[in-house]
Amino acid sequence: MDNEQSFIEFSSLMQNLSSIGMIILDKRLNVSFWNRFMELHSHVKSDEIINRKLTSFFPDVNELWLTKKINATFILGNQGNTSWEQRPYLLKLPSTQSSIDDVDFMYQNCSYFPVKSVNNKIIAVGIIIHDVTEMAVTQRLLENITNKAVELEEINSMDYLTGLYSRQFFFEQLGQDAARCRRLSWGMTVAIIDADNFKVINDIYGHQAGDNVLKELSKRLQHTLRATDSLCRYGGEEFALILPNVDPEQAFSICDRLRKCVSTSAILYKAKEINVTVSIGISQMAADKSLEDMIGEADSALYLAKDNGRDRVEQFISK
Ligand code: GH3
Ligand code: MG
Ligand code: MG
Repeated sequence: MDNEQSFIEFSSLMQNLSSIGMIILDKRLNVSFWNRFMELHSHVKSDEIINRKLTSFFPDVNELWLTKKINATFILGNQGNTSWEQRPYLLKLPSTQSSIDDVDFMYQNCSYFPVKSVNNKIIAVGIIIHDVTEMAVTQRLLENITNKAVELEEINSMDYLTGLYSRQFFFEQLGQDAARCRRLSWGMTVAIIDADNFKVINDIYGHQAGDNVLKELSKRLQHTLRATDSLCRYGGEEFALILPNVDPEQAFSICDRLRKCVSTSAILYKAKEINVTVSIGISQMAADKSLEDMIGEADSALYLAKDNGRDRVEQFISK
């Protein structure tokens, strides 16, 4: 009598719960309990569905999966859970977040537990459904915002034409590389690379051809460098390069190799061979030199290379 009384009280409590869904199913997925929450959100009355198969009211339930889950609860006799991240819902119920246009169903976390008779035999499986739509939608929204922010950061640090790092990235990287090189007592070189007479190339072959030359030129330069070197598009036909962990002689020979990789063979564009060369100015890091001064010196060395006939590498030498 006591047991029966407690069951009636429990059943009435569950029946009236309006914040969580509660269903009891047998092995064949027949419903023996359907609470107020379920009535409210599914528009199916308890009287209609009791003793009927769940899938006859909800044909899009994955019957095979649910049967396995129910059987596992019968066999193992313990509680199991599914979260909305694994399976957005068990039963497709309308969204409770009417203000959000693109969500038309209720996200659900579910718990499956064995229902036992007085002699401790599992006779059914109870399912508790939690409406987690608000949390799921907020989390999805946050994920989208984070992905967009990462995308934007990547776009900002890349140059769209050449695929090289942008000028903005160059300054960030320069600060980081300089700090690392100073800490490890390494040398560091900055180089400014400028395409020679590029205006003439545009005038002769057209701007589109000029764009393609810049792309090909970037590829050649990039392929010639180490993974730790950072090549950036600094301006129109100008590139900036950071070479960490090099001494002045190594830096000069790397830059001369870059110069040669451009000048030794013409760039082919629409069956036309376009000859292009670059001039390069370089400057070394020193304890008493700011990074701005270093860039200024590389720029001065570049002017020297232009003055000395182009297709050259010049090192900044203080007077
Ligand atoms: P110098 O050897 O002294 O550097 O001569 P230059 O003609 O390269 O230098 P100048 O600064 O007079 O002209 C640079 C030219 O580069 C002019 C500009 O139209 C061209 N240029 C800059 N950015 C781009 C680009 O993205 N695409 C193309 N096609 N041309 C560009
Ligand atoms: Mg130029
Ligand atoms: Mg220039």
